[in-house]
Amino acid sequence: MIELLAPAGNLEKLKIAVHYGADAVYFGGRDLNLRANAGNLSEKEIEEAVAFCHDRGARAYVTVNIFAHNSDIRHVPDYLAWLSDVGVDAFIISDPGIFRTARRVAPGVPIHISTQANTTNRESALFWKEQGACRVNIARELTLSEIAEISSAGIDTEVFVHGALCISYSGRCMLSLYMTGRDGNRGECAHPCRYRYALQEEKRPGEYFPVEEDRRGVNIFNSRDLCLIRRLPELADAGVSSFKIEGRMKGLFYVAGVTRIYRAAIDYMTEFLDQDTGRWIDDARPVIPDEFATGLDVYGSRGYTENFIDGPPGRRDMLYSGRQARSDYSPAAVVVQGGSEPVLRVGHLLRPGDRLEYMDRGIGTIPLEVLEIRDLEGGVLKQALGGDVVRALVSPRFNFEEWAVIQRHEGKAA
Ligand code: SF4
Repeated sequence: MIELLAPAGNLEKLKIAVHYGADAVYFGGRDLNLRANAGNLSEKEIEEAVAFCHDRGARAYVTVNIFAHNSDIRHVPDYLAWLSDVGVDAFIISDPGIFRTARRVAPGVPIHISTQANTTNRESALFWKEQGACRVNIARELTLSEIAEISSAGIDTEVFVHGALCISYSGRCMLSLYMTGRDGNRGECAHPCRYRYALQEEKRPGEYFPVEEDRRGVNIFNSRDLCLIRRLPELADAGVSSFKIEGRMKGLFYVAGVTRIYRAAIDYMTEFLDQDTGRWIDDARPVIPDEFATGLDVYGSRGYTENFIDGPPGRRDMLYSGRQARSDYSPAAVVVQGGSEPVLRVGHLLRPGDRLEYMDRGIGTIPLEVLEIRDLEGGVLKQALGGDVVRALVSPRFNFEEWAVIQRHEGKAA
């Protein structure tokens, strides 16, 4: 079946993504990748990440996808050779210079072409195939039929199915650099496309004309977030090899929630697949039930769009009423040691009497109540604060799995 590829902004998110069913994860090292503020992994953490993935049958892809300058390129050969020795499963690359270096110093490591390379047609996919790439992440600005045509080129294709969108071609944008000095093409975007703007005439400094789309102001380029969960069966028919979730900058709650719901949707879809022929049983393409899509709302979004999948997006695909992802839920804790009396790393504040929800694999949750909190020496605590690691006694007692996440509905906090 098709791969589910999840973002891992740090080692903990990586473990959570794998726990919730990612077939593969992608992450950056501390250098040469396009998410400079994502946390990223140290060399020691990369070694641990690769071992963690491989122990659980998952794959580890490393982003090396900046547009490299000469000063960057000098570090590349040693870094790629080291990643190869560690056993990473693929490099994600956009820069031809880094690509060329990877082929030379780490020929055994598969290369995936990053979305930053903006592969928008079949010939481009064939070009990368001829260079020795084994996969292209195809541009987000394509329709379903274009995706199908590129996927017929004989190279694996990877498609973003969920997450934030750029208003330019997948981040090829200078807006952030001009406005804030933070270069979006080097992993430092400050998202000024989501700022609110006003109009000022040059001889009237400080006087702002009321450019208003509504009483909240104007958001010029504020795209809704991508969500193609309802289109997964069509993307499968189009020949896509990997469904990719955007969001190395996002929190662990998003990673856990979005990964588990896409995992559940892919597993649901797989039930309709004839494993012998690879076709849908009775040629009936499945329909993803609404509960999968609505389940995603818990993890925060700016509203959803299917972007270019049926043609160019329009006004309905922009968000004019705000720029923040909102949710009534938040992460209460991460299970760092499983069992019936789990050890938790607390998200914000945890108290006896709190009513929470354990995020099970699949789309379900298990309601629970915190009965008692203890420190790791057994001392009873009145409360635990964000970052504390504590043992919890909860009702009902069941086997908490390591790297599961416990969520809190803000209206239900004790
Ligand atoms: S400013 Fe907006 S469009 Fe430009 S790179 Fe950043 S997120 Fe993308």
